[in-house]
Amino acid sequence: MRNADELVVKGRTVLVRSDLNVPIQDGAVTDDGRIRASVPLIRSLVEQGAKVVVVAHLGRPKGRPDPAYSLAPVAQRLEQLLGRPVRLARDVVGPDARSSVKELREGGVVLLENVRFEAAETAKDDAERGAFADQLAAFADLYVDDAFGAVHRKHASVYDVAQRLEHAAGPLVVAEVEVLHRLEVDTERPYVVVLGGSKVSDKINVIEALLPKVDRLLIGGGMCFTFLKAQGHDVGSSLLEEGMLEQCRRLLGSGKIVLPVDVVAATAFSADAEHAVVDADRIPPDRMGLDIGPKSVELFATALAGARTVFWNGPMGVFELAPYAEGTRGVAEAVASLKGALTVVGGGDSAAAVRALGIGEDRFTHISTGGGASLEHLEGKTLPGLSVLED
Ligand code: ADP
Ligand code: MG
Repeated sequence: MRNADELVVKGRTVLVRSDLNVPIQDGAVTDDGRIRASVPLIRSLVEQGAKVVVVAHLGRPKGRPDPAYSLAPVAQRLEQLLGRPVRLARDVVGPDARSSVKELREGGVVLLENVRFEAAETAKDDAERGAFADQLAAFADLYVDDAFGAVHRKHASVYDVAQRLEHAAGPLVVAEVEVLHRLEVDTERPYVVVLGGSKVSDKINVIEALLPKVDRLLIGGGMCFTFLKAQGHDVGSSLLEEGMLEQCRRLLGSGKIVLPVDVVAATAFSADAEHAVVDADRIPPDRMGLDIGPKSVELFATALAGARTVFWNGPMGVFELAPYAEGTRGVAEAVASLKGALTVVGGGDSAAAVRALGIGEDRFTHISTGGGASLEHLEGKTLPGLSVLED
């Protein structure tokens, strides 16, 4: 994979694929982590005198323009962080994009509107994506992919466009791949993985792939209830995926999985709901587990102690609601406090939790900007956006 700093960019137009897919509320960016992470490459290119055209997606609009998914709030925040004007094109490859790119000067930045406003971006049909990629490629001389969070997608702006332009990997992609490699090859032991989040089915493949490689797998979040149920416990109205019970039971047979021993059980999915800490094998029928309890945090911290390598993906509870954030905070603290260990946080919500709870991002070796992509990498899958950069 060629590194972006090996390219000669002065006076040339560089198409940069960034991951600017951030949460937005009432027209404002609520967590700008991914924007901040994307700034170094863009800044370096403009300082070298490139003309920069940034391509990015936001959310899942239905393949047509939708003001609710406009990159306008992102453009504003990017401009602030970069300290230079960022012109937002009103379309992706339409007349406004074309004239914006045409008027670019050295050191200038254009952000194309949400690339998913074009159905062809995500089309299954190679020819349809290809035709759209031709239009994107026509804007530039070079392509740099810095959107690690999208490399597992065979999308036009990630995959097809790289086949059409001289290309390189941006610093985020390079850093992510290096860290993932350390989790996959000659991993220092003990290797402990912490998984949480909402659904087992989302993460079952990574559990299957990681279990043989790790020393311990700690499971919290919504997914722990399917495992608790598989052990024969009642889980009340907690998240439960009946279809996964068999598989969970088999995985438990590995003897490496550590489950919570207590949970915060609430009468409803709400911050105001009545809630209490209960033993994990005594969840009342009318209650749902929304966080792991303090004894579980201690148990997980003990299981983490002495680890040389840690991968953590998925919050331990519904951290967005204050009464259910302590499990995630406790486990995040335990991981952050490890001395001399490689500690990697993966997953959009986990990274957001670290920031929202004020844990201090610098206390981890690496916070991945791409949840799905890092999980698929750890599963051993070939990621289209990476393989295309390799040739
Ligand atoms: P990541 O983005 O880090 O990979 P996920 O997307 O898998 O994480 O899951 C994050 C979501 O899981 C959060 O929105 C959180 O509220 C939810 N969650 C965590 N624990 C529970 C629980 N016990 N019940 C329901 N949802 C939960
Ligand atoms: Mg998520």
